Amino acid sequence: MSSKVFDYIIVGSGASGLQLAMAFVRDDYFRDKSIGIIEKRRSFTNDKTWSFWEIGSGLYDDIIYKSWKKGQFTACGETIDLDLGEYNYKMLRSIDFYNYAESIINESKNIEWIQDEISFIDEQKNIVALTGKQSYKAKHVFDSRLPDNFKPTESLNILQHFKGWFIETDEDVFTPESFDMMDYSIGDKSKTCFMYVLPFTKRKGFVEFTYFSPELVDDQTYDKYIKSYLSDKLGVENYSVSETEKGIIPMSSYPFYRQNFSKITKIGTAGGWVKASTGYSFKNAERFALKIVDNIKAGKIPHSNLHKKRFKHYDKLFLDVLLNYNAYGEKLFYKMYKKNSIYDIFNFLDDESHIIQELKIIISMTSHHFIKALIKHALSGFRIK
Ligand SMILES: Cc1cc2nc3c(=O)[nH]c(=O)nc-3n(C[C@H](O)[C@H](O)[C@H](O)COP(=O)(O)OP(=O)(O)OC[C@H]3O[C@@H](n4cnc5c(N)ncnc54)[C@H](O)[C@@H]3O)c2cc1C
Repeated sequence: MSSKVFDYIIVGSGASGLQLAMAFVRDDYFRDKSIGIIEKRRSFTNDKTWSFWEIGSGLYDDIIYKSWKKGQFTACGETIDLDLGEYNYKMLRSIDFYNYAESIINESKNIEWIQDEISFIDEQKNIVALTGKQSYKAKHVFDSRLPDNFKPTESLNILQHFKGWFIETDEDVFTPESFDMMDYSIGDKSKTCFMYVLPFTKRKGFVEFTYFSPELVDDQTYDKYIKSYLSDKLGVENYSVSETEKGIIPMSSYPFYRQNFSKITKIGTAGGWVKASTGYSFKNAERFALKIVDNIKAGKIPHSNLHKKRFKHYDKLFLDVLLNYNAYGEKLFYKMYKKNSIYDIFNFLDDESHIIQELKIIISMTSHHFIKALIKHALSGFRIK
């Protein structure tokens, strides 16, 4: 078996692997470091629609498909207008991102793309990542494979699962300048489920039905609610569907950080980069990639202090409520959007708020379900698992 040696190996060229590779490219420190990106996929398709919020301009503005300064949140019979202020809500097609990342990374002479499937990574033997025919060695491996023993039975787990349609209508139905963050007016009231709408033009948009729930549903259920949203809410019967998107994102308090070792850093979903209470992770990948770069340059273990503990506790409270009182999700998020500014909410969900903002948000969401979750969490000694 032949062996290839690198300074750093990135396993998986998805959202996190590519953002990390681009962070390496942007920093001169890594110019003379050899980097291998090992990816099992042979080709990439437009498999995901990534959205995220950020203040002002950002790294991917050249490939942003559409961005919004205004949004809406509808729940409990009320529509709340969201003025994003300094923030923009941006949408990116994954295929544009993959192509863009490839072009940036290809400008670097020190990065090698390898199409292979890693089956095993051994921390002891100075990191050997094995495939059937080849081994790879590196000082440090960044691994975006979900851990083999990912059976988070002791953790709080729900799933964000969804199906979306890209549609075009015969008449004007969308308001292109305002997106729908969550619209609870159509769906199963015994679950946390809502419509998510990204309008591109008056006649083109993306409509996605989303659940935050412990169980999955069949395909027809998402379709049923999308159809009823289109006919009952938007009053549109004639439309064509050009593309669909389906996905499942784990929303979990599982301690992913336990899979990090001195020479292995788990990244992306496998590294716990998905915000457990929202399912967002694209922007986290940018933030964490930068932190990893800084840590390496400072001579620290790459994953040092990636996560802020107190936000893991907040996530756990959200997960506890959503897991045990799934129907309450509508009211839970309604309270958050009704009583807080978008600035505070986005800061909080980005794990970047300060304690006063957090107290304000927590107090605004207080209910007996929330207090019960808090007491349970306190009685368990505020352990995160
Ligand atoms: C449909 C969908 C829509 C989403 N939308 C949003 C959104 O709007 N906003 C947001 O913030 N988050 C969103 N997410 C969540 C999250 O951003 C994505 O899941 C993101 O792709 C996670 O990045 P990742 O690098 O962990 O995984 P991936 O992007 O899935 O990348 C992992 C890569 O590793 C490769 N790989 C796996 N095993 C091996 C192996 N053994 N050897 C070699 N290569 C391997 C895979 O082929 C893949 O390319 C969405 C998720 C889904 C599924």
